[in-house]
Amino acid sequence: MKRSHILCMLAMMFAGLPSPSASEISAEQGGIIVLEARIDTSHPPVLQCMGKSWPVEKVDEARWKGWVGIDLATPAGSHACQWQADGLRLSQNITVTKGHFRISRIQVPRRMAEFDPRTLERIRGEIRVLKSSYRVHVEASPPIAMKLLPANGPESTPFGAQRIVNGQPRSPHTGIDIAAPEGTPVMAPLAGKVLYVGNMYLNGNTVVIGHGRGLVSVLSHMADIKVSENQWVKAGELVGHVGQTGRATGPHLHWSVRFHEARINPHALLDAGKQP
Ligand SMILES: [Zn+2]
Repeated sequence: MKRSHILCMLAMMFAGLPSPSASEISAEQGGIIVLEARIDTSHPPVLQCMGKSWPVEKVDEARWKGWVGIDLATPAGSHACQWQADGLRLSQNITVTKGHFRISRIQVPRRMAEFDPRTLERIRGEIRVLKSSYRVHVEASPPIAMKLLPANGPESTPFGAQRIVNGQPRSPHTGIDIAAPEGTPVMAPLAGKVLYVGNMYLNGNTVVIGHGRGLVSVLSHMADIKVSENQWVKAGELVGHVGQTGRATGPHLHWSVRFHEARINPHALLDAGKQP
């Protein structure tokens, strides 16, 4: 994966030192940006970008680090971020570049592409419950990175692919598909708390793990589920097995990642886990 997903910048200088140009701080749609600020404050500064607050951490004396997730649909171009501390306010621009997303065509039975009002109501209700689980606060402070792939196998559909279902354009693919054989173990990609377990019409057997600091993993289409809600899991712990429940054209694991609800490329976080 490209290193452009993650870019560490020693940037904000309240002391009046020159800031780097905006073009130096960039990531593509679905990436993560790491900002660093030199701010002499005893309590954590607030980092705001794209209408949200993002997690920050003290690096050393007067140096802070913050992580910003670039949602898949963030318009390409310049976006302003702000650090705020002790009445001080400083802006910094980041540049979002367009992701290179391919087109993915699938053919599924009609009942999995066109829905009667009752099924549509069920699907919408399930999505509401799923999305509300992304906002549950989890008392943990992990690194903003994934430790491992949740299943071993070839990637069949990449992040961001524009899906054409039975010839109709649909929403983009917000995770990655790992085409592992039925029964392959599915593991937690990072430690966390199980926030949701359910059998969804489209996603099949699904588990949501909240890792803490607004980082969430969604694992779908499993044959079975081996964890229960509110259970804490370690990285690598068994969550279930690969299957083809819900709307699936064959056995695979769908893994998507949310960071403060932004839809992030799991590879951006796996790459971050490999950084020294
Ligand atoms: Zn998928």
